[in-house]
Amino acid sequence: MLFQVRPPAPKEADLTTVYDAIVVGSGAAGGMAAHILTSHGLNVLLLEAGRKLDIESELKSMEWPYDHPRRGEMPRDSHAITLNEYTVRQPPYAQGTEYKHVYSYVQGWGGSDYSKNIVVDEKDHPYTGTKYAWVRARLLGGKTAIWGRLALRLSDYDFKAKTHDGYGEDWPISYADIQPYYDKVDLYLGIGGHKENLPHLPDSLFQRTTRLNPSEVMLRQSLKKMNRVLTPYRAGVTTDGLKHNKYRSKCYGRGACGRRAGGCDIHAAFDSPTGLIYPAMDTGHLTLRTNSTAYEVTVDPATGKARGVAFVDSQSGQHYEAKGKAVVVAASTLESARLLLLSKSNAHPNGIGNSSGHVGHNFCEHVMGPSILGRVKDLVGKPRTLDDGRPGGFYIPRYRNLEERHPKFIRGYGFEGGGGTGMIPGRALSTPGFGADFKKTVRDEAGAFVHMGGFGEVLPRYESAVSIDPTVKDRWGIPVLKFDYAFGDNEKQMALDMAATGKEMFEAAGIEVLHADSDILTEGWSIHELGTARMGRDPKTSVLNQFQQSHDVKNLFVVDGSSHVSASCQNPTWTIMALAWRSCDHLADELGKGNL
Ligand SMILES: Cc1cc2nc3c(=O)[nH]c(=O)nc-3n(C[C@H](O)[C@H](O)[C@H](O)COP(=O)(O)OP(=O)(O)OC[C@H]3O[C@@H](n4cnc5c(N)ncnc54)[C@H](O)[C@@H]3O)c2cc1C
Ligand code: SF4
Repeated sequence: MLFQVRPPAPKEADLTTVYDAIVVGSGAAGGMAAHILTSHGLNVLLLEAGRKLDIESELKSMEWPYDHPRRGEMPRDSHAITLNEYTVRQPPYAQGTEYKHVYSYVQGWGGSDYSKNIVVDEKDHPYTGTKYAWVRARLLGGKTAIWGRLALRLSDYDFKAKTHDGYGEDWPISYADIQPYYDKVDLYLGIGGHKENLPHLPDSLFQRTTRLNPSEVMLRQSLKKMNRVLTPYRAGVTTDGLKHNKYRSKCYGRGACGRRAGGCDIHAAFDSPTGLIYPAMDTGHLTLRTNSTAYEVTVDPATGKARGVAFVDSQSGQHYEAKGKAVVVAASTLESARLLLLSKSNAHPNGIGNSSGHVGHNFCEHVMGPSILGRVKDLVGKPRTLDDGRPGGFYIPRYRNLEERHPKFIRGYGFEGGGGTGMIPGRALSTPGFGADFKKTVRDEAGAFVHMGGFGEVLPRYESAVSIDPTVKDRWGIPVLKFDYAFGDNEKQMALDMAATGKEMFEAAGIEVLHADSDILTEGWSIHELGTARMGRDPKTSVLNQFQQSHDVKNLFVVDGSSHVSASCQNPTWTIMALAWRSCDHLADELGKGNL
């Protein structure tokens, strides 16, 4: 039977009350904000644009393809945007299409029927400008409902990157400031991994790691000789269980992680509702209002401070305002920038918190594309092993521009990958032949493949920006974002190097290279948007201080990836949550002292 503790009953929102804080968005950032603020005893209203889904029956992690009428695929009237469409067309991508529903590319992965209510329908949520593969999830929990769970720390190579190579800005914090909060996130949410003692990829406080399989061990051993590291996937998954959280189970290694866009119906993989929001509701201090799309941070004209949040009920279309002593924006990097830019008033004519003109700018993320597929000849025909009973494969941390300096690009990249036998042999469809011989080849080779793909740091540039489109609006009449963003030469040079070193590492390990891709995928593919309201010491060139507090409006905080000063090449979610925890401790402290 499915492990499941029902969520607490929601409290009715009282819009005549002035809440201690209003949090906008319930993903990794908003969930953490709600959790920490309520743990300080504050009375918090959480506004979430999407609905609350019965997520366990949505995900059905263990359902087999043959138990689904279309083997897990979406109905024919629904379409996932392809790489080709992103390449040859400009947004809005759903415009002029005959399909009833259009989704971003992640719905092109297997099992798309299980995530069709999680990701947004592009018809309702258009955007304009330059090419961008924008993946959004509008529901309680946001993208954490299906995230890939690779949970990495940043280091001073990232926080002090300008000191290291002269480009951009240093963060206003160093690793020592955030390290205690990373520790708290690890212990509260659970993370599996293996200690490596690397200065550029600090270890977490790990629970039981997942096991590497034979092809991965072979690659790890070979990489050691090159002074590079392959480490088991550091998964934001509780492998040992969490005694303090009744809504989550430990990972039973059911091997369902890789079958769909994502999600875990026993919540071993972290998601914001079971990890943060339900425990916050249990304190009695959290009021959750779903179907509440914020479109303006309202301002007290007398003080210029944030007064509350104007929102539209996504189902009824009714407009409301909620009032709070502090406003915490956590709608995700791009949506938060949109909300700040939409919040124009006499006190803040360029949008709230935007006296610097930097809101929407310095946008950065990760470049993806170069990938490699290989076959380990020695493993062909060997008995198959149970390798996909785990929430991830491996990670190869950055090895460029640490001690040495690459002549063609600055910063670095890492690789995510995996090998071994899967329950469903992924290569069967591309294996030539038929009949008994075909089946034998598929079985013999099932455990012999290994693959990996790169994630590289994209430099923040002032001109990489989003703004409000002057004419196009979403389904609720809210002006949409316009992108003005493209990869630069540093990213292109880095991608060439990724492709070359990926191949080099496989060849050095004696892995037969079957396919190597060096093309860059469309901007946005990494789903790691960052930087549109960066932190900094100087209010003229940054939007937030080191506590993600607006330089202009002291009771306004923006606690998601928009605050990141640079992208690093490590996945951002663990850092988003550690920073949000730190900032919300500060918020509670300042509110208590009457400083907001
Ligand atoms: C398939 C996939 C794989 C991923 N893999 C990884 C990974 O391996 N490692 C990693 O670190 N990260 C990964 N990510 C990224 C990760 O999910 C995000 O970094 C993280 O969820 C960001 O948290 P957030 O709170 O900023 O945004 P979200 O989780 O997107 O939450 C934002 C919330 O705000 C709500 N919202 C938006 N606008 C409004 C509004 N106007 N009013 C009210 N509410 C609003 C949204 O509905 C949403 O619930 C992945 C994402 C996806 C989709
Ligand atoms: S492998 Fe673990 S984390 Fe992944 S779906 Fe199964 S139980 Fe959940």
